[in-house]
Amino acid sequence: MSNCVFCRIVAKEIPATLVHEDEHTLAFMDIGQVNPGHVLVAVKHHAENIYALEDAQAAAVFRAAAKVARAIRGAFEPQGLSVYQANGAAAGQTVLHLHVHLVPRYEGDGMALTWPVKNPPREKLVEYAGKIKAKLG
Ligand code: 5GP
Ligand code: ZN
Repeated sequence: MSNCVFCRIVAKEIPATLVHEDEHTLAFMDIGQVNPGHVLVAVKHHAENIYALEDAQAAAVFRAAAKVARAIRGAFEPQGLSVYQANGAAAGQTVLHLHVHLVPRYEGDGMALTWPVKNPPREKLVEYAGKIKAKLG
């Protein structure tokens, strides 16, 4: 897609600082750098979000994410590493081309994700699982 910033990076129409490339994925430095070493792993062929991924793309994205994560750990020795992937504006997605964030993490680094647990009764878990399984086929 010509108006998609990550498609334009894949096409080398705009510059990015690359760290890894394979048949299905391109990994490059996030321009914002939440912490030093923050990398994005994006699919090469445009897919807007996780729902649009072909199986081969899905497999390749996580394979590349794991490979690059190990390299980030080796290079920066962070205390932790967050894998973050947003789908839709409500989830915080701003670039509508699938990508996974690999963010080196440190105690007190200010990156926050609130986690408002509801702790529903087990019957609710069974109900929710049933709804999902009905769609898995
Ligand atoms: P999202 O919120 O969609 O998960 O994250 C999009 C990310 O893409 C942001 O962290 C932002 O810094 C990064 N980003 C946006 N435009 C560019 C760009 O042109 N080049 C690079 N390297 N990163 C970008
Ligand atoms: Zn795109």
